[in-house]
Formats: sequence, C-alpha cells, structure tokens
Amino acid sequence: MARYTDSVCKLCRREGEKLYLKGTRCYSPKCAFEKRGFAPGQHGKARQGRTDRESDYARQLRAKQRARRVYGIMERQFRRYFSVALHQRGVTGTNLLQTLELRMDNVVFRMGLAENRSQARQLVNHGHFKLNGRRADIPSMLLKPGDTISVSETSKSLPFFKELPDLAEKRPCAVWMDRDVKSMSGRVLRLPERAEIDGSLTEQLIVEYYSR
Ligand code: SF4
Repeated sequence: MARYTDSVCKLCRREGEKLYLKGTRCYSPKCAFEKRGFAPGQHGKARQGRTDRESDYARQLRAKQRARRVYGIMERQFRRYFSVALHQRGVTGTNLLQTLELRMDNVVFRMGLAENRSQARQLVNHGHFKLNGRRADIPSMLLKPGDTISVSETSKSLPFFKELPDLAEKRPCAVWMDRDVKSMSGRVLRLPERAEIDGSLTEQLIVEYYSR
C-alpha cells in the first residue's frame, strides 16, 4: 500500500497549523512549524494570511486534506472510507471518523503503544502485534468493539518493547478502549463518540467535498 514518505513537518506547514504528527518533538522548540510557520515551497510565505479569501471549495479541500494527513492515509483509500461511511446508517461524517479511528494503526496509537500514528503503522507492519491472539500486520485493518490487541511474545524481548511500558504509562489512552500497560495489550470497548474524536476535524466539510 502506498504511503507518504516526504517530511511530515511539511504537511503541518502546508495546513498552516500543527498536526502533531511526530510526538514529543511536536511539543519542543525543534518543531519545524515553530521555526517556519508558513507553507513550504517558493511561494509559501506569499500564501500567508490569505485564508479570509478562501472559496468554499478551498475550505472543503483543506478539511479533507487535513484529516487525511492526520491519519496518514492516501487519497484513494480515504475516498473508499468515505464511500463506506456514506452507505452506513447514521451521520456520514461521524461514520467516516469512526472508521478512521478503528484502523489498527490508530488503535495502537490511541492506546499509547506508539508515539505517533506513523510509528504505530510501522510496528503493525513489522508484525509486532496480535489481534485477538493471531498475528495481524495490516495497519488498515478495521477493528470492532471487543477486539483485543497485544504485543507478540517474540517482540517483547526487543529493546523497544522493554522500554514501552514506562513510555506508555505517560501517554493517554482513549476512553473508548482499555489497556494494560504492563502486558502491553488493550481492548476496544465500544465505538468512539464524536466528542471523543479530534475536535479540530471538520467532517461536514469533508462530506461536502465528496458530495460536489
Ligand atoms: Fe508538525 Fe510535529 Fe513537525 Fe511540528 S514537529 S511541524 S507539529 S509534525
């Protein structure tokens, strides 16, 4: 599956706000957005302060791009998630966000078992996690309430996972799941409610973008 491989800090600069894609570095003075808070590229600085002149289309596009970048998903897959959400019962925008939240890489991140989503994605890809006791190495797998995630026994001896319980202890865990830091495992309790998902995402604009 294709993935974005350029600097993620450029994505924050392009969106004109911090998306917190790296973890601890995002809260330090090393954050690229703190140093260069304008869009990348030759005309990046010239774009500053133009948001008041944005068309409806531009706002919808930016909302969609922002969500895509937060979850680290390419356009084709994101559009597929939208199509699934559209055909589900309930509010399309909320369905879309719930689907994104239930991706396996996101669940690992939300449990505090990775510093950011891209690290979670790599850990899953390398086969370090089990889903319901069975090896699962596809980051885009969608989980459901009741599913459990755990670090595989063979991976627990690796230096990264030896340090993980101490690191995970300091990270928050989403309220719609529970985790056991010591055993490096967790369970999805229920679907996340809208208020428990990133409040800065504007799903209504995303729906409008794909409904043009
Ligand atoms: Fe964005 Fe984090 Fe990079 Fe800062 S350090 S620009 S918040 S990804």
